[in-house]
Amino acid sequence: MTSTPTATADRPHRAAKRYIFAWGDGRAEGDATMRDLLGGKGAGLAEMTNAGLPVPPGFTITTEACNDYFTSGQQLPDGLWDDVLEAVHEVERTTGKGFGDAADPLLVSVRSGAKFSMPGMMDTVLNLGLNEQTLDGLVALTGNERFGWDAYRRFIQMFGRIVMDVKGERFDHALDAAKHARGVQQDTELTADDLRALTTEFKAIVREDTGREFPGDPYEQLDLAIKAVFASWFGKRAVDYRNNQKIAHDLGTAVNVVTMVFGNMGDDSGTGVAFTRDPNTGEKVLFGEYLTNAQGEDVVAGIRTAPKISQMQTDMPQVYGEFLRIGEQLEKHYRDVQDLEFTIERGKLYMLQTRSAKRTAAAAVRIAVDLVAEGVISKQEALGRIEPAHVDQLLRDQFDPAARASAPRIAKGLNASPGAAVGRAVFDADTAVDWVGRGERVVLVRIETSPDDFHGMAVAQGILTARGGATSHAAVVARQIGKPCVAGCHELVIDYRALTATANGVTFAEGDWISVDGSTGEVFVGALPTVSARFEDQPELQTILGWADEVRRMQVWTNADKPEEAEMARRYGAQGIGLCRTEHMFREGERLEIVRGAILVANAATRAKTKTAAGGTLTPDEAGAVAIFDTAMGKLEVLQQGDFEGIFRAMDGLPVVIRLIDPPLHEFLPNLEEQLVKVTRAEMSGGATDEDKELLATIKSMHEQNPMLGLRGCRLGLMIPDFVKVQTRAILNALIVVKASGGHPKAKIMIPLVGHVNELKATKDLLEAEAKAVEIDAGIDVEYVFGTMIEVPRGALTADEIANHAAFFSFGTNDLTQMTFGYSRDDAEGGFLLKYVEEGILPVNPFQTLDDAVAGLMKMAVDKGRATRPDLELGICGEHGGDPESIHKCERIGLDYVSCSPFRVPVARLAAAQAVLASAERDK
Ligand code: PEP
Ligand code: MG
Repeated sequence: MTSTPTATADRPHRAAKRYIFAWGDGRAEGDATMRDLLGGKGAGLAEMTNAGLPVPPGFTITTEACNDYFTSGQQLPDGLWDDVLEAVHEVERTTGKGFGDAADPLLVSVRSGAKFSMPGMMDTVLNLGLNEQTLDGLVALTGNERFGWDAYRRFIQMFGRIVMDVKGERFDHALDAAKHARGVQQDTELTADDLRALTTEFKAIVREDTGREFPGDPYEQLDLAIKAVFASWFGKRAVDYRNNQKIAHDLGTAVNVVTMVFGNMGDDSGTGVAFTRDPNTGEKVLFGEYLTNAQGEDVVAGIRTAPKISQMQTDMPQVYGEFLRIGEQLEKHYRDVQDLEFTIERGKLYMLQTRSAKRTAAAAVRIAVDLVAEGVISKQEALGRIEPAHVDQLLRDQFDPAARASAPRIAKGLNASPGAAVGRAVFDADTAVDWVGRGERVVLVRIETSPDDFHGMAVAQGILTARGGATSHAAVVARQIGKPCVAGCHELVIDYRALTATANGVTFAEGDWISVDGSTGEVFVGALPTVSARFEDQPELQTILGWADEVRRMQVWTNADKPEEAEMARRYGAQGIGLCRTEHMFREGERLEIVRGAILVANAATRAKTKTAAGGTLTPDEAGAVAIFDTAMGKLEVLQQGDFEGIFRAMDGLPVVIRLIDPPLHEFLPNLEEQLVKVTRAEMSGGATDEDKELLATIKSMHEQNPMLGLRGCRLGLMIPDFVKVQTRAILNALIVVKASGGHPKAKIMIPLVGHVNELKATKDLLEAEAKAVEIDAGIDVEYVFGTMIEVPRGALTADEIANHAAFFSFGTNDLTQMTFGYSRDDAEGGFLLKYVEEGILPVNPFQTLDDAVAGLMKMAVDKGRATRPDLELGICGEHGGDPESIHKCERIGLDYVSCSPFRVPVARLAAAQAVLASAERDK
């Protein structure tokens, strides 16, 4: 498709700026590159016109006009209205029709259109320009009175609701009453006379609701509609949507004024929505729906369930052929799958919109792989087409096949957006938000959804609707935000008043558990168990990630504490373990009791050992404490060695970073208050046991006001050196065993929470002495690497000194964030932090996305560390290591690897590749 934009041609304008770009007669003033100014829709209409495709003439009022409208206190900028009038006259000249002309009326649609598509989130008005006089003209021209009155009542309904703020239900009720009075089901069964009466009633509703007459002057209609579309940019649903999709609020929307073409002029007319490939699966087939004798909103709102687009091949073979050709042409031109809106007016096809299609994760991956195979895009472009969230979705749970086979299926609808959702049924969006706020999981059940339901859809596990098809609002939005959705489930009868839904004799009520399968369209009562999606079964995803591996510079490691986790991460492509938190091994099964036994006497035993080392003689109590402590630590050593052997085997040949014990010891003891209550109660009824009293005394002695900043990390190892010694022995002996059995273990021992170089030096001395002892015992040299975490700001500030004693740094950004902000990790996230983010005091939660100041500290530590030790290995093991935006920052800082939870490994592989591509783009 070649385009001949005339964008540079200046257009005379009265306003201070040029706010208008028109198209028609095969020529457009804008083109596809002008999305910022014209919005996606405007740019698409211009581009299609330039390509010679059939597009009804019209013009775009720019996004800049929208922003200027708001800056000047919701006033059209001076001169803009004159420019609009001139543009209308041009359309009149092109079409030969007159705006407000009773003999040959020009009718227009007024449509929103921002840079990024926001389906259904902003407003559109159709059939504008109709009044009693132009209606006569329309009827005379078409010879179809029913069509004329239908168009008029739709216009009053839409304009009344959108522009004049009349409650939409009032019109709906009047329409339902009219159908009821006639004893008919469908809107199409109402006669011209019914519609005329309905129009009078609609006007009365407008008068009652607003205290003014419905405006008859087409120019007044146009003025009000333009302002209403601008205003819809800051409408609640648009703002909610932008917040959810992280779209900036200052982009503004363009307004497109487009000549109306009518799909409801009879059986040789129609309208529809189609995708050039299946947006659910990515399969290369034309996918969509169309309705004969209907207007666009009938398809989108699912008012009538539309037949598949393939039906058009039978109904109108010639038009179908032309549409197919145009679809292919547009896909080739935009080098991506297109989402097309079209109308057929008396056998003539008009294109109303083309845009890149929203798609499911599975479709995104398949389409990207196919487009590379077809030679349309490069591998690197394919990587750019997949969102990290897509990868995440593909690894999402599915229903357990055995459980679903025997589950009570009550209905089946359309499989509109894949995945398994389990939650309590709620019947409106506000309830969904309330319930989720109190920690419930919900499935939003609606007869059909509208953009007003977006906030509920965003928080629900999944969406279930009784009406609407694969291109209904529910389906499109669910796919985009990655929620499972079953749409058009006709068997379901929903009663909003009783808060129940019934299908095939089974009723569920608000609060009942239901399970919906967006991949098959099935609906079950009860909470079905889910199983994780199998990575192994997704060859296309693996292909994409393989391409990512070719591009990325950083390695992707994983945070894993158990052999099973390590194995899973390895299957997902992990290239090492970046963090093995050994304390997790202290909590399982019998271990906790052993650890508690050791902790109770840890201080006494450590003091006694110091006394012995200084040549003192121990009392029987002191000797007893040492014996108890050493026995417990000996048992732990054996158990930990076994754990490490398992992990080394699972990660054979790959690096494993093992962190020595980090958390404060009280985390392994019972809660202080509970123990206090237990002992006090026991004292009141005859006396507590010595054991309980001793435990209480120990807990009290270890109690800290802020344990996250207290005796933990390397501080703990320095106060109770046996923790370091025992863990070192367990790691190195595991290494010896695995190596002896033919394995290739690679151990890296990591010290947490270092803030002063002396902490690291002292710990290293301790550890090296123990390692020497192990080597002597085994009679062989043991290879391991020694390094530290950088998670205390002072550690980052003195990274040059610290690097003298560490072969690697791993940034513990959870702690580094906590200490840089001065926020307690445990308290902030559950408390004020969410409010901070909501109120915009913080742009994002810094525990999720790496803050720039924290990233700045990291960069400084990287530079200082490398200045001391050029081959210093650098990684990140805080939660940020699995967050795409943070991964981009890690790329810029120059880390060697990111380490994240096993499930995030595939996401991180893609994000790391995208980070390289983004850097290359920036450097251009
Ligand atoms: C960190 O602080 O980022 C880290 C990985 O350690 P933990 O979360 O265990 O304190
Ligand atoms: Mg930490």
